[in-house]
Amino acid sequence: MDILSDYFLKIGSQFIDPKKRVFIAYIVISIFIALGWFILSKKFTLKVAVKKIFNWKIFFSKSAKSDYKVFFINQLIMMIVSPILITHLTIATALYFYFHSIDWLSVGMFSNTLPIIVVISFTTFQFTIDDFSKYFIHRFMHRWPILWSLHKVHHSATVLTPMTVFRTHPLEGIIFSLRSSVTQAISISIFIFLFGNTVSLFTILGVNIFVFIFNVLGSNLRHSHIGIQYWKWVEYIFISPAQHQLHHSVAKEHHDKNFGAALAIWDWLFGSLHHSVDFETLKLGIEKNQKDESHDLTTLYLNPFFEIKNYFIKNLNLLRKKFYFNLFRRSYSNEKKYY
Ligand SMILES: [Zn+2]
Ligand SMILES: [Zn+2]
Repeated sequence: MDILSDYFLKIGSQFIDPKKRVFIAYIVISIFIALGWFILSKKFTLKVAVKKIFNWKIFFSKSAKSDYKVFFINQLIMMIVSPILITHLTIATALYFYFHSIDWLSVGMFSNTLPIIVVISFTTFQFTIDDFSKYFIHRFMHRWPILWSLHKVHHSATVLTPMTVFRTHPLEGIIFSLRSSVTQAISISIFIFLFGNTVSLFTILGVNIFVFIFNVLGSNLRHSHIGIQYWKWVEYIFISPAQHQLHHSVAKEHHDKNFGAALAIWDWLFGSLHHSVDFETLKLGIEKNQKDESHDLTTLYLNPFFEIKNYFIKNLNLLRKKFYFNLFRRSYSNEKKYY
């Protein structure tokens, strides 16, 4: 009974906790932003805009229904797995003690700094490394075949709804939760070590202020059919919803573009930036003729394991062939020496 109530609390907290992406107030704000976009930019009437936003064909599509199911299943899996995952506090403590062994560092060496400066620099630092690590890991998710097998689950969505953010393989969920622990641990340990313990000042509503602004400004629209585009120069700095929607496009020219979460700067710096295009021109998913089965739960959860197994078998065979080829070449050249 306890587990069941814990589970429902966990599900509920996704919608009532301002730290979470789909906090109900963020969703409501996103709806207003979408209305503003359609009425002011697309010149739709209010009635048409409302109809466009609440497109039930999208929200009750096979793809979206799978998003909802994956959400409920993954919450349960994470509830079971998270107690055994290493926490940011454990990593932070280890790093804190490690810093003691570095000669040129001493505890509280900058403790006289004005609290406001500490707060601003902590928040900026935390946000920057968090956002960069998301970019970095996401890029590897696309590059390495093993990780791509997992990340494909997210990309197999053929429509986008705010719940698509939860459509991930649980192993990807674990990788991203470890990523979050490591980045939090790095910033907390560095700042406590150098500036002393003023962590309570560091957050607003318990959320890093930048993440809070990002969520208020409609982070939920990234996974939606509302193709909000920013001015071209802004899209070099911040990822617009339409830029992330392009990341989900099946078109070859859109592959491996726009890995960023909130900042587009990383994509710009490392050559993966693509400006947004009109949402209506995009086809979403992993391939043009994607089958309906790609939304089945067994496909979503088990296919990555088969793909990873096949990848290892293929590569082991290649390695074996290479080994025998080299062996043969060596014995052949040795034979030649005797003649
Ligand atoms: Zn991706
Ligand atoms: Zn996405």
